[in-house]
Amino acid sequence: MTTQFGDRPMYIGGEFTESDSGKWMDSVNPATGEVHGRVPAGTVTDVDRAVQAAAKAQLEWGARSVWERGALLRKLADAIGERAADVLPMEAADTGNTIASLDNDIFLVQGYINFVAGLGIEIKGESVPATAENIHFTMRQPYGVVGRIVPFNHPFLFAGAHLGAPLIAGNTVVLKSPDQSPLSATLMAEICHDVLPPGVVNIVSGEGIVVGDAIVRHPRVPRIGFTGSVPTGLAIQRSAAEVGVKHITLELGGKNPFIAFPDADPDAVAKAAVAGMNFNWSGQSCGSTSRLMLHESIHDQVLEQIERTVSAIKVGDPLDKNSGMGPVNSEKHYAHVMGLIAAGREDGARLVTGGARPEGPEFERGYWVRPTVFADVTMDMRIAREEVFGPVLAVLKWRTVDEAIEMANCLDMGLTAAVWTNDLKQAMDAARRIESGLIWINGTGRHFMGTGFAGWKNSGLGREECLEEVISYTQSKSIHIMMG
Ligand code: NAP
Repeated sequence: MTTQFGDRPMYIGGEFTESDSGKWMDSVNPATGEVHGRVPAGTVTDVDRAVQAAAKAQLEWGARSVWERGALLRKLADAIGERAADVLPMEAADTGNTIASLDNDIFLVQGYINFVAGLGIEIKGESVPATAENIHFTMRQPYGVVGRIVPFNHPFLFAGAHLGAPLIAGNTVVLKSPDQSPLSATLMAEICHDVLPPGVVNIVSGEGIVVGDAIVRHPRVPRIGFTGSVPTGLAIQRSAAEVGVKHITLELGGKNPFIAFPDADPDAVAKAAVAGMNFNWSGQSCGSTSRLMLHESIHDQVLEQIERTVSAIKVGDPLDKNSGMGPVNSEKHYAHVMGLIAAGREDGARLVTGGARPEGPEFERGYWVRPTVFADVTMDMRIAREEVFGPVLAVLKWRTVDEAIEMANCLDMGLTAAVWTNDLKQAMDAARRIESGLIWINGTGRHFMGTGFAGWKNSGLGREECLEEVISYTQSKSIHIMMG
């Protein structure tokens, strides 16, 4: 069958290749439900090929100076910008994210690669005055081959940005693309092919339980960086522990609170609450503030404005620059989102807007959900406790600060949170008490490179987007020079 994007191979050892199995997996356009491309259904032996190629390339890559590696990473960032016109339509078609919002993904991936390209020189050891007559110092070295496994929501951004830290530290990478949106990672492979030596980056496609698990269990992959859901993060920890002692970082899901205090401007809160939901990605962002906790004194005013704004979001073709929201990513994810909307209704939440497929012939096929808001949500409802990872905002009401903090902290996830108030002391008290890895005071959504991104509790392990991430791709060694 001929498809729009065709058959797009994996990338192993500098070569574009099919799977050893000869099998292919369909990639589906979520706006239409039609197959628009295929990638190889990778196997355990494909993963082994990729790891062996990465291990071979690492000897030469790890021996280069940080300046050389940094220069090649900057070249990679430039090359990504040059291919943006190819990436954007493919990414919008494969993910359902609106094309207008995807420029920012290109900007972020280039920015992050350029940021870490300059950090190689910061991978420092220490000298330690343990004895007077000898020299004692530590140095940091790469692990060798790093496995990186990425989710479906920003596959191109993650495929690129997640290469930077391991590569500048002298590792080579085997990256697994998500099976629900695997196409843009194949463009990243082409870009890497133009810039980096063979084997430094290898990109494999295939099912998580096959290819992802084989990466995690491979004896020559001591370091794994994972971005995805909490259950998969736990599965990866279990698999790794069965085969060896592995170094794992996890960037996982969230059910992030947005607490608005009585003194906050209701209009600004309503605007920020809608922006914090990332409807332009159909809410499919780990950092989305999907639990809006409004003080009772501003609740009705904020909710009224949110209803107006959210019901006016233009749902439509993700390739149309004027669309404010596309479909959700896949049939499987559509079922998950609609299941939680049904649970919201059953549990007694009040549907304010959305909650169904939009009307019109263009929405009859594909995985469309109207932007949805539930009010009168309480913390015993599934819609308040489970990550929807979709265009569904749950609005809750609070009376006392202790009650709001208790609501914010009662889940086992703690990724992001927003606090809205003009009272600095109140804001800082709340920021200290909220159990999340990133807090916005009077803000939402934005990441600030260099400051770190990390989840607390079940939302993650390790920090990314900062020097700590680069260091985490190295291991420390103590050396003692005996002088006498
Ligand atoms: P997912 O189901 O956990 O999948 C993530 C990746 O893991 C995919 O490539 C998947 O492969 C692979 N995988 C699945 N099972 C595996 C296993 N047993 N061993 C190794 N790899 C396995 O997550 P998703 O649905 O793609 O993404 C949504 C989730 O990611 C949400 O929870 C969201 O909050 C989270 N997320 C977190 C961050 C962050 O920075 N904290 C950023 C973005 C997204 P297949 O695709 O082939 O199943």
